[in-house]
Amino acid sequence: MNREIREAIRYLGYGRHAIDEQTLALVECSMEELKAKVRERFIYRIFELSQKDGVLQIGDWTIESKGLSRNLKGCGRVAAFAATLGTEADQMIRRASVMEMAKAVVLQSCAAALLEEYCDDCQEEIAKELSCEGWYLRPRFSPGYGDFDIRHQEKLLALLQADKKIGLTMTKSCMLTPTKSVTALIGISREQIPCHRQGCEVCEKADCLYRRA
Ligand code: SF4
Repeated sequence: MNREIREAIRYLGYGRHAIDEQTLALVECSMEELKAKVRERFIYRIFELSQKDGVLQIGDWTIESKGLSRNLKGCGRVAAFAATLGTEADQMIRRASVMEMAKAVVLQSCAAALLEEYCDDCQEEIAKELSCEGWYLRPRFSPGYGDFDIRHQEKLLALLQADKKIGLTMTKSCMLTPTKSVTALIGISREQIPCHRQGCEVCEKADCLYRRA
């Protein structure tokens, strides 16, 4: 069983309980359908970063967030990042919710797992490029996470010209459209720390100074 399937099952709430064969088959077939139809895209831009007393400055953009400041400690640069599965995933889920609710729920979980995996792949690609110049990435940190106000979503999208470049916008209540999308800031530092591909939640480095919490 690959990681996307495992994660989709976890999102469905099976946790440590075994999944029945019928549901597993539905998850596997939904994942295949999604992969065949979605058109993933991502974009990133790198900015200089300065910070003082929990206040971060990226050009004319000021962010007050203790959680983000801790995660970005020691970072001289930051990548603004956005990724999306596109409108196809939303359409598939919408269609299924009319015809077959169980399938819609499974598709939701599969899309969430697929998006996370895609973001991890993108981040690995960015990390590879930057490591040649001696820069290293921290885990991504999204608006709405901890005390990083979700309203910063607007500035992040604008800096990336995400609408024009990858068709990603937001509603008045800061929800992303298409919904299966992610925006984030990713710290860039000269210090190489052994970050887990899936981020701080699964990282075993319990005493890490930069942990997202
Ligand atoms: S807790 Fe782990 S993943 Fe998170 S910043 Fe520290 S080393 Fe990286």
